[in-house]
Amino acid sequence: MSSRTERLLSGLRELVAIESVSPDAARADAVDRASRWAAARIRRAGGDVSVSKVERGRPLVIGEIPASATPRDAPDVLLYGHVDVQPAGPLEMWDSPPFELTRRDGQLYGRGVADDKANVVILLAAVEELVSVHALPVNVRFLIDAEEEVGGESADEWLRNDSRGASAALILDGSVDELTVGIRGMLYGRISVTTGAAEQHSGLYGGAALSAGETLVRATSSLLALDGRLPRPLRRGAAPPSAGEQESWHRLRTGEELLAEAGLRAADTTAAREFHQRTRAEPALTITGMRVGDVSQFSGSIPFEAEATIMLRPVAGQSATAIAAEVERLVRDACPSEASLELKWDLLYDGAAMAPDTPELILAADAIERNIGARPVPLRTGGSLPLFENLCQRGTPVICTGFGVEREANMHGPNERFPEAHLERGVDAIREILVGLGKHR
Ligand SMILES: [Zn+2]
Repeated sequence: MSSRTERLLSGLRELVAIESVSPDAARADAVDRASRWAAARIRRAGGDVSVSKVERGRPLVIGEIPASATPRDAPDVLLYGHVDVQPAGPLEMWDSPPFELTRRDGQLYGRGVADDKANVVILLAAVEELVSVHALPVNVRFLIDAEEEVGGESADEWLRNDSRGASAALILDGSVDELTVGIRGMLYGRISVTTGAAEQHSGLYGGAALSAGETLVRATSSLLALDGRLPRPLRRGAAPPSAGEQESWHRLRTGEELLAEAGLRAADTTAAREFHQRTRAEPALTITGMRVGDVSQFSGSIPFEAEATIMLRPVAGQSATAIAAEVERLVRDACPSEASLELKWDLLYDGAAMAPDTPELILAADAIERNIGARPVPLRTGGSLPLFENLCQRGTPVICTGFGVEREANMHGPNERFPEAHLERGVDAIREILVGLGKHR
């Protein structure tokens, strides 16, 4: 084994051994240790490190390493990865201890190898190697997150408060076969209805008195999709998929397979066939919770209060605040005027997308294809990533990918794995990308 391979493996072994399970409050120390581990590596490479911590947040490591020559003229590049992981789950499901990096059949096993520790090691190693030969062509700003798995917002918040910006960003937290070029946003809200002052007997008042259950159902049904399409006001602004994007969906697993594997059923007769269009390129609404009356025991009463939580995922081109106003108008119009209705929003994020022919994305796809052997497909994803949206809004090109193979990595499950060969090839690809970004002005 070459000394380079050994160095990469030993770094990853150290990081995997730190049980940085962020959803487990009892392991907050380990999460801190993983952050300190990354901070120490950046310092050793000559970087300036600071740690930002928002209230109740986990440490966010910010490490700055200047370009080897004329840093004042070199572009700034953000590098993002996260050191926290999901819990290992039942130990008996693992073929080797989850927090011991294990090599087996060309794969590296351990909790967090694919999501996201190997990617962090790759980012660090690529920069260290360039620094050691005085060839780092860009000013690097590491953002090493420790709360990605608990939906933390520290990195996003830090970036919003950082006026310097960057000429490009590299988010390594994904799959090697994909370049994420877009995300959906998020509107999370709570609809509450009140239809009276107290519960009353349905035998005495049923038929004449307004009931909270029916009222809530009427109000929320104004938001429902018909034949798979949300009401027009909720679709307004949605950027349609390009021909190239539609073409790329054919290379993915089918909706039938993906739904069946997740134990889900299709929402309507065309939903499985249109799976990728529906989940990546169209807004979606989910009623995520409803509460009315007491279903645990017999009741003959008319409920007077009810509430529902809704999650709406807008796509690029749509404004979350404009959609929020439309939702409010629809539910109010559908709600009987005698009822009181309240709508509160907890989260409002826009979707975002970049053109797949953005030069930085082409550069990254070329470098990954050269080193890994297959070209990543530019895809919009259905999930949300505030950091991505934030960068897109600033006009910063984002290269968002990773070196694990999502469909076989078992991220968040037992026997999480990462192809051993991708460790070195990943470092080579990132070096090429950084060199390319150095020329790209
Ligand atoms: Zn991740």
